[in-house]
Amino acid sequence: MVEIQILEKTDDFMRFIVRGVNIPFVNALRRIMLTEVPAMAIDEIIILENSSILSDEILAHRMGLIPLKTDLDSYNLPEECKCGSELGCNLCRANLTLEAEVTDKTRTVYSGELKPENPDIAPVSDKIPLVKLAPEQRLKLEAYARLGKGKKHAKWQPVSMCTYMYLPEVKIDSERCDACGKCVKVCPEEIFVETEGGIKTQNEIECTLCMDCVDACPKEPPAVEVSWDEKAFIFKIESTGALPVERIVVEAVEILDKNIKDFRKQVEKGIKK
Ligand SMILES: [Zn+2]
Repeated sequence: MVEIQILEKTDDFMRFIVRGVNIPFVNALRRIMLTEVPAMAIDEIIILENSSILSDEILAHRMGLIPLKTDLDSYNLPEECKCGSELGCNLCRANLTLEAEVTDKTRTVYSGELKPENPDIAPVSDKIPLVKLAPEQRLKLEAYARLGKGKKHAKWQPVSMCTYMYLPEVKIDSERCDACGKCVKVCPEEIFVETEGGIKTQNEIECTLCMDCVDACPKEPPAVEVSWDEKAFIFKIESTGALPVERIVVEAVEILDKNIKDFRKQVEKGIKK
């Protein structure tokens, strides 16, 4: 039975424990979140005017990397869109425009100056610096954002972090431990506390499995034992802001489910032949 326990959750960050699964399963989920869950990113730019010091290519690259809020329900992946057009249509392309000019003082142009046609597809943050403009310099461009996948380009990754680790287990053998306190000092996560009844553990979940406590223990064999549960993992996911973090997880599960169903269909088709 799979069991999930949410430890922390905000709009952009989630940390949870998954129990009852194995490494291939959690790694499949991690890889799908990184490479297969679509997100919006600027994919094509028409530069009408650029007299800044940045070349068109560098500017285009910087703009491609701006995380954009993504509306997965209203847009199609270009390769799956019925329009079949190379330029795209309203269902597979979102337009943004940028016009900036400086007359007297040098200033920085930020992502907030990008004007989206659809407010649902706008930069996640309006404080990303794009370029500095000096007096008399101008910038005018049209940008086309499209859905894409991280496996083609990292700008389409909906996550800025997606990792898992084994759920740690820290045990102290109270009979052999003489409460010297070396492990308390060395642990970077402050897992150990000195109490009147000897050394105790707290927040074991924060253990990074660095094993410094085991090395620091003067007893032979050490009185501290650090191990992990092979069927439980702590997952940490941070969204770029493109999608709510829980949506990324749900989409990943759906993609995995679809891949397995496709696999099954192919097997059945192969047998019938
Ligand atoms: Zn289309």
